[in-house]
Amino acid sequence: MPPILDALFARSLYSSTNQISGFRLYSSGSGGGGGGVQENPKPFILKQCIALLLTCASSKYKLRQIHAFSIRHWVPLSSPDMGKHLIFRLVSLSGSMAYAHQIFTQIQSPNIFTWNTMIRGYAESENPSPGLHVYREMRVNSIEPDTHTYPFLLKAVAKILNVREGEKVHSVAVRNGFDSSVFVQNTLVHMYAACGHAESAHKVFELMPDRNLVTWNSVINGFALNGRPNEALTLYREMGLDGVEPDGFTMVSLLTACAELGALALGRRTHVFMLKVGLNENSHAANALLDLYAKCGSIREARKVFDEMEDRSVVSWNSLIVGLAVNGFGKAALELFKDLERHGLVPTEITFIGVLYACSHCGMVNEGFAYFRRMTEEFGIMPRVEHHGCMVDLLGRAGLLKRAYEYVQSMPMQPNAVIWRTLLGACTMHGDLALGETARARLLQLEPKHSGDYVLLSNLYASEQRWTDVQNVRRSMLKEGVKKTPGYSLVELGNCVYEFVIGDKSHSQSAEIYAMLEQIVKLLKSEGYAPRTANVLADIEEEDKETALSYHSEKIAIAFMLINTPVRTPITVVKNLRVCADCHLAIKLISKIYDRAIVVRDRSRFHHFRDGLCSCRDYW
Ligand code: ZN
Ligand code: ZN
Repeated sequence: MPPILDALFARSLYSSTNQISGFRLYSSGSGGGGGGVQENPKPFILKQCIALLLTCASSKYKLRQIHAFSIRHWVPLSSPDMGKHLIFRLVSLSGSMAYAHQIFTQIQSPNIFTWNTMIRGYAESENPSPGLHVYREMRVNSIEPDTHTYPFLLKAVAKILNVREGEKVHSVAVRNGFDSSVFVQNTLVHMYAACGHAESAHKVFELMPDRNLVTWNSVINGFALNGRPNEALTLYREMGLDGVEPDGFTMVSLLTACAELGALALGRRTHVFMLKVGLNENSHAANALLDLYAKCGSIREARKVFDEMEDRSVVSWNSLIVGLAVNGFGKAALELFKDLERHGLVPTEITFIGVLYACSHCGMVNEGFAYFRRMTEEFGIMPRVEHHGCMVDLLGRAGLLKRAYEYVQSMPMQPNAVIWRTLLGACTMHGDLALGETARARLLQLEPKHSGDYVLLSNLYASEQRWTDVQNVRRSMLKEGVKKTPGYSLVELGNCVYEFVIGDKSHSQSAEIYAMLEQIVKLLKSEGYAPRTANVLADIEEEDKETALSYHSEKIAIAFMLINTPVRTPITVVKNLRVCADCHLAIKLISKIYDRAIVVRDRSRFHHFRDGLCSCRDYW
């Protein structure tokens, strides 16, 4: 407690019981801030209170003490500056907004500063919605917003992801002539990007005459977060041409985009740049870098970043544990978890996602259950549906389908579509038609139009050669208007990321690619390869099926890389769907025949192919 407050409190001890009842009267006053007040505050006390508020920068408790003191000395909140400073301090200390609002309602005709402070307080709180109500109330009271109102308001809108409200605010800002302020424009870009409207963010950005680092970061991040990594990278290059130096935030956005695309070479260049300007010591950027290497399947580099990090948070540990697990290094992931414990760190829900995933993909059923128990009993983590999903996967992958089904039925929460889909996937893998149909029936109720489920079921029927059922599934798929998610594969070459779809002929090197594919098939057959046609939808003739298989996007992407990269260069492919059994077999053989390390990141895991083997040990 600062000495002045001591002195003031010492004096306040003399306050009489009469004043205490006065306080009751006062606090139940009619919102005007002084309903029951009969005495005027001594001017020096008001000054003291404000002086205290101005210096009280550290504690919410002290703030309450000052407030209590002011009440005891009849300082009404309606007096100039008192309420304003009190709310401002409260908001700056991230204090309770309910408390701030209570004070706010007692201020007679608050000025724009106070309205803005309230909007800011809500925007920065966990419940930003009332910020919009405050704004509306402000307009009803004929207070015109100023240049500070919009950034706070847009921040609140960005948090609640309500783009409609954001557009309304945008149009008011234009009408009032504030759309040319760089602060307003920056928050507009941020708001549109956060709401998933990357195009609108870009449009505002394009119209801006002055762009600073924040502007560039907002728009780059907008594209990176909204699944448009290519645009993010293009903008990053433009930023360089504009002479704007990137910072830690730029690096995080950029690395996120690279990780999404599997653009390892560009990610590495970003790393070199970070080392040059010393941004590698920024812990957020270092975590993003670690994540990039893990997501590009380069676990050795991820490990190196981890080992060289100065302050590793649990986020860093989690990135590497999950990274090791999904890359098929389950044992190493579990070792790292033990390391984390030895370092006295407390694992989080995400740590256990990695740990359970590791157990599941290594077929370690008992260990998985032991970790699940420790998670709940020892660390008090309430299992989320994702953790239960890992357990269903653990049992399902191990072929314990009956137990998996029992687990689903005894879950403490309603199993969602993801859980039933995991079970359906396991049934497809182990050929359990009856249970597969049960899971499918539940999925139809929960998510009737999910294309992946139709494909899984049709594959299940196809593996049993039940072609009529396959046809029925296809027909209902057409009838329901379900569209298959088109598969695509991404590869990075030079400064570009190339995308290929099934049977892709759009590339200028198309002829060479298909010639290469033919050569590959010939060589594969001499190695004893027979195409696994069971997964192809059944109405294609046998010969066509084989052709369709050789044109799966990952094979086209690999052929493209074999043509365009020197011998023995490793190849990394990012695929949006699960790799099929035929491609898996073919890529194993390609890795042997062409002597290439091939990494395929598919929707659920990583496959590291080398010398005719895959890290998943054909268990995925
Ligand atoms: Zn395939
Ligand atoms: Zn594999």
